[in-house]
Amino acid sequence: MATLSPVTPNIDPLVARMQGFGTTVFAEMTALAVRTGAINLGQGFPDTDGPAKLLETAAEAIMNGANQYPPGPGLPELREAVAAQRAERYGLAYDPTGEVLVTVGATEAIAAAILSLVETGEEVVVFEPYYDSYAAIIALAGGVRRPVTLRPDAGRFTFDPAELRAAVTPRTRVLLLNSPHNPTGTVFTREELEVVAEVCREHDLVAVTDEVYEYLTYDDAPGGAHVPLATLPGMRERTVAISSAGKTFSVTGWKVGWITAPPRFVRAVQTVKQFLTFTASAPYQRAVAYALREEQEWVDGLRVSLRAKRDRLSDGLTAAGLTTFRPQGTYFAQADVRSLGFGDGRAFVGALHERAGIVAIPTQVFYDSGAGDPYVRFAFCKRDEVIDEAVERLRRL
Ligand SMILES: *Cc1c(COP(=O)(O)O)cnc(C)c1O
Repeated sequence: MATLSPVTPNIDPLVARMQGFGTTVFAEMTALAVRTGAINLGQGFPDTDGPAKLLETAAEAIMNGANQYPPGPGLPELREAVAAQRAERYGLAYDPTGEVLVTVGATEAIAAAILSLVETGEEVVVFEPYYDSYAAIIALAGGVRRPVTLRPDAGRFTFDPAELRAAVTPRTRVLLLNSPHNPTGTVFTREELEVVAEVCREHDLVAVTDEVYEYLTYDDAPGGAHVPLATLPGMRERTVAISSAGKTFSVTGWKVGWITAPPRFVRAVQTVKQFLTFTASAPYQRAVAYALREEQEWVDGLRVSLRAKRDRLSDGLTAAGLTTFRPQGTYFAQADVRSLGFGDGRAFVGALHERAGIVAIPTQVFYDSGAGDPYVRFAFCKRDEVIDEAVERLRRL
């Protein structure tokens, strides 16, 4: 009998459409920080826990038998809490049965939405810099991304309406919007959203909105808060809105997210989602349902605390000689490194690690164009001592 020889199969284990999507920059930078003991202002995760009662609720749920598959659309109590949150906070009415779908974080929601909506060769308009999973999922769907660049204007990043209009073609199917926006920290204004909505209505696009930072906005001026695109005229019908508990309750490792959308969109997204994971996280879903109803005060406190951290880090970056963009929302501040004489973000990040023992993210990895070359993203969702130590070390540059 012939013996099988241990020959490596002659195949490329990674399909062509995923080539170029190696390890994410976050994993790479976090590994670097862990290996060298550097301060990690790269990956956006908080270094403190969510509300104690939220954690206890999950622990109790595990001890009390919430350990089997939850229903495909998500636990009814969580879907009801989500619908109540959208209604109370934004005046948006969604039926918990049929218009809410619980997902494995916002990441799965984005993936299932794009995979359900985009045919091979169809286009997705996306603002660059974009969250890294967007490019990979559009590619996995066989879609084509049409980036519209956000550029600094009067201290914040925004887009040129003419460029947005020019990005849309007859093959465009989806507009993928992230507001509050990672990594620029821009919270899109109502005026900006009106332009986006007009383009969607005019070209019959579906809007997919990534609203994971919906609570984390810092400007108290009127219009400074998050406005869901679905609240604009004619938009609820064509919007798949995505949220997540990770950022709101400082439990990024739980991966409980959800979409709210009209029934036919929810059915389409669920059709894909059921074969990605089917369902997940029964005990965490129960805990998040509790937190959405009962932990608003804790979230308000988080917001106040993050606003102070934003100022702490932004002031430190400015004092170190960096041109800093004080964000209106999210976990992140961006800086232009040319003011310190660096040619681009990658060179700066290398020097920052070597000389100051700090890890940050060169924003250029989130662009198709070269418009992001001078920018670096710093996370400020860290304990004050960590931010202070980083600011102190920045002087070494
Ligand atoms: C963190 C983040 C996500 C991922 O959310 P999960 O719930 O952890 O999957 C999606 N989009 C943006 C813009 C994020 O910053």
